[in-house]
Amino acid sequence: MLKKIFVLTSLFLLQIIFSNADQLSDKTVPESFNSLSVEELSPEVKKSLDNKLKGKMVTAENWMIVTANPYASVAGAEILEKGGTAADAMVAAQVVLGLVEPESSGLGGGAFLLYYDNNKNIITTLDGRETAPLKASSSRFQKENGQPMKFFDAVVGGLSVGTPGVPALLFEAHKKWGLINWNELFDNGILLSENGFSVSKKLSESIKKDEQRLHSFKQTKDYFFPNGLALAHQDIKKNESYASTLKLISNSGIEEFYEGKIAEDILNTLKKSNSEKQLLEEKDLKNYKIIERPPVCIKYKVYDVCGMGPPSSGGIAVAQILGILEKFDLKSLGYSNPETWQIIGDATRLAFADRGLYVADSDYVFVPTESLIDKKYLATRAYKIKPGERILDVKPGDPLLNQTLNYSKNYSIERPSTTHISIVDQYGNALSMTSSIENAFGSRLMTQGGFLLNNQLTDFSFKDEVDGKLIANRVQPGKRPRSSMSPTIILKDGNPILVTGSPGGSNIINFVVNSIIAFLEWDLDIQQSVSLPHAINKWGKYEIEESLKSTNLKPSLESMGYETKYRKYFSGLNAIHIGEMLEGGTDPRREGIVLGN
Ligand code: GLU
Repeated sequence: MLKKIFVLTSLFLLQIIFSNADQLSDKTVPESFNSLSVEELSPEVKKSLDNKLKGKMVTAENWMIVTANPYASVAGAEILEKGGTAADAMVAAQVVLGLVEPESSGLGGGAFLLYYDNNKNIITTLDGRETAPLKASSSRFQKENGQPMKFFDAVVGGLSVGTPGVPALLFEAHKKWGLINWNELFDNGILLSENGFSVSKKLSESIKKDEQRLHSFKQTKDYFFPNGLALAHQDIKKNESYASTLKLISNSGIEEFYEGKIAEDILNTLKKSNSEKQLLEEKDLKNYKIIERPPVCIKYKVYDVCGMGPPSSGGIAVAQILGILEKFDLKSLGYSNPETWQIIGDATRLAFADRGLYVADSDYVFVPTESLIDKKYLATRAYKIKPGERILDVKPGDPLLNQTLNYSKNYSIERPSTTHISIVDQYGNALSMTSSIENAFGSRLMTQGGFLLNNQLTDFSFKDEVDGKLIANRVQPGKRPRSSMSPTIILKDGNPILVTGSPGGSNIINFVVNSIIAFLEWDLDIQQSVSLPHAINKWGKYEIEESLKSTNLKPSLESMGYETKYRKYFSGLNAIHIGEMLEGGTDPRREGIVLGN
């Protein structure tokens, strides 16, 4: 019965949003979502929004989905309700995210996915990361004098665009685990593109902040500034070109994207970009492959924490930090003790030192993954941490007694881009996927097909060597840039208990770790765990979320010798706890909602 009511109300909700969106009232719903007026239309969406405002988790019995945008959660929920798997729901949700949250992810980007298959009791990971053009050289992001380019000079335009992986990833996930017909998964995306969606506060603010760069290309400018004015919060926006792209892919499959009309459109868009050298070519698109890889797992107490291996640094870094932290009694120390943050901060600094030296695309350079997460090695790293005293000089470790690579300088800049989807279906499968076009609005190049192209290649090191030693994460033809994305699934006794992940550039690693510690050690529920204020020290200053200003954390860390600073964070943790019930939490810093039944 409950199921039926949900299907009806959410169908009704979509219908009303699509047909009357411009007349919707904005009386009592939270600021970010008021254009949807969802609380008046669907009890489930209203409940989720209410819970979020009150900091309460959402519970369900059969299935659950958490995405960064209500439209996407509803699209995925419909598929789950009609018997779809987590993979089916992910496809429907991602297609909608590409429309309503185009600054963060889409068909022109890449993603990493973890899938727990309940029948086989295994976790598989799919690597849908972008690839460098086969013509790329290692000096790609260097000026004529060999010095690294300025970040945004490299980002805006064709130079930063890697072969998109998302379309192939959707197809592969559906082929492996889907139950619903491929073309049905695009219905809501097509409908919403044709009828219009209500522009969210985050999208409108992102457009305002990026006005100058979005003006770089006509297609992009025309889309985000119709009649010369920036799209505003609650404007109703259609994207008919995107609807046509979705129709092509839903009817003819992804060949259209990698070899057909859409491929041609991508190459034409690149030709018109402000760069001429080493751009993607036909064969780059045609050769693109999703790579299935084993997950990177570590035992943390009674749990198996599994994540994404190289080319993401996420799985290794999360595993290293947790493996180091296991040696300390964070449960007794507690959340509000500055010593807790000194220990987590130093564990993070140690992991980031290793990350800088060793982690890149393991199909191109040797990455000592197993040695880096070996418990004996991590014990030597943990030994360096003395409670109450900052480590003075953090250096990468030597898990193989054989250092051959050099540091790569990190150029990642954090903007509110990238997105995370967590899903559990009624069959007990669990999915965790982080999806990205890298910077907000990626390369700022929009195709005629109504989607933005990524700037993921700027996740490569801009330098290729230092003092004659090669950098692991240097640009090489066909290589995938190192990522920080950390989609994570935690198992206990072989069964999944936590599905989580976040956007946030290199801070992703700590957003995920901190929320895992909060959940497993500090008896917080899933919503409290993702809402908890952040404090992060990767290198340089210890950065503390502004909401902690009233605490003694800053002066206490300073008395231990850290330089500190307050800042805002744009985490977007979307997590599900699988216990007696399904419990979902979504980051209050973004616009996501949890839906379940
Ligand atoms: N490009 C980043 C990565 O792959 C993600 C960017 C973000 O989260 O904003 O690590």
